[in-house]
Amino acid sequence: MSPATPTHDVIVIGLGGMGSAAAHHLSVRGARVLGLEKFGPVHQRGSSHGGSRVTRQSYFEDPAYVPLLLRAYELYEKLQQDTGRDIATLCGGVMVGRPDGRVVSGARLSAETWGLPHEMLDAREIRRRFPTLTPRDDEVALYEERAGLVRPENTVAAHLQCATRQGADLHFEEPVTRWEPFRGGVRVHTADDTYTAGQLVICPGAWAPGLLADLGVPFTIERQIMYWFQPTGGVGPFLPERHPIYVWEDEAGVQAYGFPSIDGPDLGVKVAFFRKGDVCTPETIDRTVHPHEAAMMADHMSRHIPLLPGRLLKASTCMYTTTPDEHFVITRHPAHPESVTVACGFSGHGFKFVPVVGEIVADLALDGTTGHPIGLFDPARITGPLGPAPAAAPVPGVRT
Ligand SMILES: Cc1cc2nc3c(=O)[nH]c(=O)nc-3n(C[C@H](O)[C@H](O)[C@H](O)COP(=O)(O)OP(=O)(O)OC[C@H]3O[C@@H](n4cnc5c(N)ncnc54)[C@H](O)[C@@H]3O)c2cc1C
Repeated sequence: MSPATPTHDVIVIGLGGMGSAAAHHLSVRGARVLGLEKFGPVHQRGSSHGGSRVTRQSYFEDPAYVPLLLRAYELYEKLQQDTGRDIATLCGGVMVGRPDGRVVSGARLSAETWGLPHEMLDAREIRRRFPTLTPRDDEVALYEERAGLVRPENTVAAHLQCATRQGADLHFEEPVTRWEPFRGGVRVHTADDTYTAGQLVICPGAWAPGLLADLGVPFTIERQIMYWFQPTGGVGPFLPERHPIYVWEDEAGVQAYGFPSIDGPDLGVKVAFFRKGDVCTPETIDRTVHPHEAAMMADHMSRHIPLLPGRLLKASTCMYTTTPDEHFVITRHPAHPESVTVACGFSGHGFKFVPVVGEIVADLALDGTTGHPIGLFDPARITGPLGPAPAAAPVPGVRT
């Protein structure tokens, strides 16, 4: 089959958190972009919904993320200005736990490595400043004034709006069924049509195991639950000027995190665990939140934030796409380095990076390289320098 003349410069598969940012940054740089999304705009069936995401700079996961966070903060601010949408609220945040636990010691390492403004608080000082929080005497916190939250739905809507304004052609309810490279470009098939472009960007979220099987990275899709509680005594003590975002690691190493009340009394206060969830697929995920799950969350919270677990107002599910070391995968596709860029495996902590991932992906697709430090996200750390074994890469594209 002779390759058709590409109809677009870049095709982006998936217009969730990362893909919408990629479509925006690619179109700002003058590329003719076609975006293809399986569902409608700003949907609830992937990983970018639920009203809020924690953002912070003293990154306990690894100091290598910090320069990307500094850039993400700038881009989030610009997005908010450009669209007038409510996107980021920097209400301050605490990383709480034992001084030698992963959360506190890792956050401190990043803060000290990069000279980020922060304060160390002992248990008494945590209780004095934030009366909603009741740490044990042996717990401390790293306080960061620039921590806070970003709103996922508003972020995705803003990126889609900006991309459209720059001329991007965005198709919703049009799932990609298959893609394949040819010399000089890539061909992408949907039920409706076949498209060609010089470059392909794949941001598939929890659909990575199917769409990027040939990458050879063993992704695990995990079901996660978000809970909204009505605090006993009302939301007053939980308003953003009194109650920070927090990541709290208990003595068993279990992390829970939460937000201030940002959506009025009817939506209460949101909390969740950051822990291994049930393994699922986007097709098999159990969307029902069961009473024993809510009871476990309420019990956990009653020990740390006793005013919080009053009545459960709402709960909903979401998916993590986790890599073996919980670091991202952002790269030129090792098997198709001339024409395919991928951004996936965000392992439950990617949203705060969304705009900078868009910028990096645009660099990789249009220039073949980026000035941002992304060495940590090379899949060769998992698959080895030779890339995936041939048995793992029979045919590019979707497997049924
Ligand atoms: C409960 C929960 C809490 C989280 N909390 C935080 C937090 O506090 N801070 C933080 O930084 N991060 C957090 N995260 C992680 C963060 O939200 C994700 O890393 C991020 O949203 C991933 O974006 P994505 O673009 O990879 O996935 P998505 O936004 O799901 O986008 C993938 C898109 O690809 C589309 N797609 C898939 N297959 C096809 C196909 N064949 N054809 C066309 N389109 C296709 C999907 O429909 C989807 O729209 C959390 C995640 C969850 C679930």
